[in-house]
Amino acid sequence: ACDTVINAAGAHAWHVAKMAGLELPIFPVRHEYFVSVDVEGMKPELPVMRVPDASLYLRAEINGLLLGGWEPESLSLMSDDFENGQTPPRVEEDWDVMGWFIEQIAPLYGKAADLGVRSIFKGWPTFVPDGKFIIGESHRLKGFVMAGGCNAHGVSGSAGIGRHVVESMLEPESSPYVRSLSPDRFLDGEWDAAEAQTLARRIYETYYGLGS
Ligand SMILES: Cc1cc2nc3c(=O)[nH]c(=O)nc-3n(C[C@H](O)[C@H](O)[C@H](O)COP(=O)(O)OP(=O)(O)OC[C@H]3O[C@@H](n4cnc5c(N)ncnc54)[C@H](O)[C@@H]3O)c2cc1C
Repeated sequence: ACDTVINAAGAHAWHVAKMAGLELPIFPVRHEYFVSVDVEGMKPELPVMRVPDASLYLRAEINGLLLGGWEPESLSLMSDDFENGQTPPRVEEDWDVMGWFIEQIAPLYGKAADLGVRSIFKGWPTFVPDGKFIIGESHRLKGFVMAGGCNAHGVSGSAGIGRHVVESMLEPESSPYVRSLSPDRFLDGEWDAAEAQTLARRIYETYYGLGS
């Protein structure tokens, strides 16, 4: 027994919440990027760049190019497509998506089409219908604290997530922003799983917020 459980189980956060009797709209959406073979003239200090109207991000990876993005037709799982304690299904390399990244970057960097791919990185970050983290305790279950639904911000947002979790637990009254992340925004309302998944996918597909 323990007084507090913090659910930071990533793609299994839905399962862990469900074990505690809380149903949350957390959906794994596939994400991939590739790293090319060495590119002549590429410098490791090239900054991270985002090209919102091409829905891409890129940077140097040592002497190769790292290129990723948010394809318009995302691939998602329902949360119960895999069991608690079971690894989510393996993501197979999707060369059509890699080709789409290259098409998107071509107007800015035509040589991308000639680059060999050294490796593809891939996985199932989780998305939620409103694109916001799910952070804090539910009034329905004291001591059960969410820290999930990261919408592919779990690394860049980790320090903030930690701060917000602490604030939600220890401050007598947390800020309006932290309150807006509460799991109760979903637990106190009704939602349909298929519709919620469509909205979560839309967050992925319009990640840089243009053209939507
Ligand atoms: C290709 C790719 C690129 C990405 N790039 C970025 C990026 O540039 N910036 C960024 O911010 N994010 C990025 N992300 C998303 C980022 O990886 C996630 O947002 C982040 O990992 C989520 O962190 P987390 O701690 O919530 O979950 P996870 O990192 O998934 O960690 C969850 C942990 O919980 C454990 N666990 C699961 N079930 C249980 C259980 N029942 N009991 C105990 N432990 C359990 C798991 O084993 C795992 O260690 C990327 C994702 C992918 C796939």
